[in-house]
Amino acid sequence: MKKLVVLGGGESGVGTAILGKKEGFDVFVSDKGVITEKYKEVLRNFEIEWEEQKHTEAKVLEADVVMKSPGIPDTVALVKRLREREIPVISEIEFAANHTSAMFIGITGSNGKTTTTMLTHHILKQGGLNVNMAGNIGDSFAKQVAENDAPYYVLELSSFQLDGIKDFVPHIAILTNITPDHLDRYDYKFENYIASKFRIVMNQNEDDYFIYDADDEVITQYIKKNPIRSRLLPFSLTKKIENGAYLEDNNIKIIIDNNEIIMPTTDLSLKGNHNVKNAMAAATVSQLLKIRKTTIRECLENFHGVEHRLESVLKINNVQYINDSKATNVNATFYALDAMKSATVWIVGGVDKGNDYTELFPLVNEKVKAIICLGVDNSKIINAFGNCVDNIVETQSMKEAVNMAYKIAERNESVLLSPACASFDLFKNYEERGRQFKEAVREL
Ligand code: ADP
Repeated sequence: MKKLVVLGGGESGVGTAILGKKEGFDVFVSDKGVITEKYKEVLRNFEIEWEEQKHTEAKVLEADVVMKSPGIPDTVALVKRLREREIPVISEIEFAANHTSAMFIGITGSNGKTTTTMLTHHILKQGGLNVNMAGNIGDSFAKQVAENDAPYYVLELSSFQLDGIKDFVPHIAILTNITPDHLDRYDYKFENYIASKFRIVMNQNEDDYFIYDADDEVITQYIKKNPIRSRLLPFSLTKKIENGAYLEDNNIKIIIDNNEIIMPTTDLSLKGNHNVKNAMAAATVSQLLKIRKTTIRECLENFHGVEHRLESVLKINNVQYINDSKATNVNATFYALDAMKSATVWIVGGVDKGNDYTELFPLVNEKVKAIICLGVDNSKIINAFGNCVDNIVETQSMKEAVNMAYKIAERNESVLLSPACASFDLFKNYEERGRQFKEAVREL
């Protein structure tokens, strides 16, 4: 019996363990931290052996194949040891993909992955396909392959997940954009992070499709230097595209082999230019998979959005409160500010990831009435925007920040939480930050 060792007992690890067991592997799960009770219960039910708060090296090195959770960097000693012994170390994505004959739509990018994944899944499902959604989202891919496999998967793929693939091929790949993020995992070299994102196309061939943002210089430059084998279907807000998607007189036009779909951007339920791009990408996939045009249009009109992404919370005294807690980097906040239609009180701050705020200056000058800093160290924000905005205040908690915003904002203005930073200084994660914001708004 082949031995599968799973490093990491979280969602992807436990999913892989279940699939491994079903496929006849002798499975052992090893987690350096504590495995949550929910997952222990699952492991017990499937009679899968595990250990926690340690990796017993001798046991791990007995493996024929090792699945490493994406959170564990390649640089840890145990992973190096596995490589020295030439024991294959693969990711959950690779393992799960090897055990299904489904078609994959793989979605990556620095921002917009979740929105585009959910939107694509929504249209394909409404269009009548039996389609699952997995990857960085919801139940693990491996668990779904083991328990309710489907002929199509829409997969949200982080760069860490892409780093762990070997032969995985998405028939349709989407790259939403590339801006600097997670550089600590890439030797602080942007080119390494870019290369990681482009792994999404590395196994594609001429019958596959690559959908990408043609307005993104980083992407287009890379493609010029590194020709892509698959069929290119770019999307753009600024130029006409032969095969792909573009804007003409405020209409989205998608043309693939002379087959055309048109939709006014004003009909889109999700607001902001970034969401026009996400809609273009999702609709291009849907058109490739022959979903009816009316279904595509209807879905883009009624998709209700994703929590913590430019989420409208409440209108109080004619002031709109918007939760964009998922904006954990500058580029995401750029699109949030870009989407604002009224003067804005902007709540920003958290753990700085080496942020360069320059690209925000014009938008902040034009739209931001006051800045409310919410972070342990706000000095960089205050220095960056001191010349753009007169009213900059510091606050210590979400409640204080929201109360302050309430005092400053006037009728027909907006309050936007779009932190441009990670959340770990004051919150467990961005979800908790967003929830606290919504709670504080509801209590006003
Ligand atoms: P991801 O899963 O890649 O983090 P999300 O869809 O969760 O992406 O969105 C993350 C943040 O980025 C949100 O604040 C959202 O408003 C913003 N965003 C969404 N789509 C895009 C895009 N295409 N370009 C830039 N920012 C985007």
